[in-house]
Amino acid sequence: MSSTIAAIATPMSAGGIGIVRISGEEAQQIADKVFKGVKGIKLVDTQGYVAQYGKVYDGDTPIDEAIALVFKAPKSYTGENVVELSCHGGLYVMQRVLRAVFNAGATPAQAGEFTKRAFLNGKIDLAQAESVMGVISAQGQQGLQASLSLREGRLSKKIDEITNNLISSAAHMSAWVDYPEDDVPELDFSVLKEQFESARESLEQLLKTFDSTKAITQGVNTVIAGRPNVGKSTLMNLISGTKRSIVTDIAGTTRDVVEQTVRLGEVVMNLADTAGIRETDDPVESIGVDIAKKRIESAEFILAVFDASQTLDKEDKDLIELCRDRNVIAVINKTDLEKQLDTDYIESNFKNVVYISASSGDGYEKLSDCAAKILGTDKIDTTAAVITTERQRACCVKAVESINEALSAMDMGLTLDAINVCIDDAVSALLELTGKKAGEEIVNNVFHRFCVGK
Ligand code: GDP
Repeated sequence: MSSTIAAIATPMSAGGIGIVRISGEEAQQIADKVFKGVKGIKLVDTQGYVAQYGKVYDGDTPIDEAIALVFKAPKSYTGENVVELSCHGGLYVMQRVLRAVFNAGATPAQAGEFTKRAFLNGKIDLAQAESVMGVISAQGQQGLQASLSLREGRLSKKIDEITNNLISSAAHMSAWVDYPEDDVPELDFSVLKEQFESARESLEQLLKTFDSTKAITQGVNTVIAGRPNVGKSTLMNLISGTKRSIVTDIAGTTRDVVEQTVRLGEVVMNLADTAGIRETDDPVESIGVDIAKKRIESAEFILAVFDASQTLDKEDKDLIELCRDRNVIAVINKTDLEKQLDTDYIESNFKNVVYISASSGDGYEKLSDCAAKILGTDKIDTTAAVITTERQRACCVKAVESINEALSAMDMGLTLDAINVCIDDAVSALLELTGKKAGEEIVNNVFHRFCVGK
């Protein structure tokens, strides 16, 4: 029997209500030791799903008023007996209630343990479990929608369908090899090939959506680059809506990389504002410039900023070179000032150019539309099956590779056994995606990323 666990399920900060969640076979018995309902009914004797008002005690010491809600196994989040005690949302009071629950026999929940138990009890699969963190960390409507679609099992359903088709092809091959004298339908290689190709195509379709989905869920690593004073910090502040970067008109004020996650339209950007690309003798600033170059090289998306009121100089041209063949928008800033910049030169060097005034906010929407177009987020159907994590992506890639190996084995005229081994590998990768056949290490790794109380 696994232990009965407890944790604070709401944020660790002051708020109106704080919830202490208890899950496990002994959940009601433990809760009964700390919670006394005004009606005097014990939680073990209730049908569940009805709120009860009462008080929480640690021994004889009253701690807080609370509402207790009982969920009975298997109809609960974890699939186990669950009691949620909603008390006042003060940090101290929540911790006192939790301590009382521990004193009554519960053990502290590990990060993600409630959801892990939901997975182990078959309430959700691994991909659905991952969606829980996606819903919690969603930054925009599209990201939320994609995680909800995963939560509802759209990806799992699609993956199950592909897996079952591969399993039935593999079963046919095995039967044909092992029982040739029996009544096994004849194996048609061209049909088999079509089945494998169709599975591969479905997986490739899913993989195609990953980069766009990532841009609305986990975020794209983005760099705002440009020489000093072009308005990088002002642009960052415009996008984030805060005054995080220091804005001054002394060149070289932004010395190191300032990072934050912001939303440009529906696109989530893990944004870094860097020191200007500038050759400098100042040792502190030159470290910043080096970091900036490295950032640009490793960024997934670049906002290359140019000053419309200045003529192009060597630093601008260096930036143009660094941005060649990259996912980039040339942002021509300070369009409210008299134009000096050779915009034709910029237009001829970038596929995407947007004109803005970061200080007034003019052109913001064009910038956000352009980012959505480049990253493909304007075309995502978030109600369809989508891949939202690197783990899911890696499993799909592995499955595609194995199917490709099976197809090559067929072309080379290898034995059915050899083909079957490849299909087995593809099936294993897909079963790992949904967690139907995932080792302990993989499962632990998924839940390791969760917060305590989830
Ligand atoms: P950074 O060094 O590239 O980060 O540039 P800053 O954001 O610090 O901006 C440098 C100066 O340009 C500041 O005085 C800003 O107020 C000003 N600035 C930024 N954007 C605009 C703009 O769109 N129009 C005008 N007129 N000034 C701007």
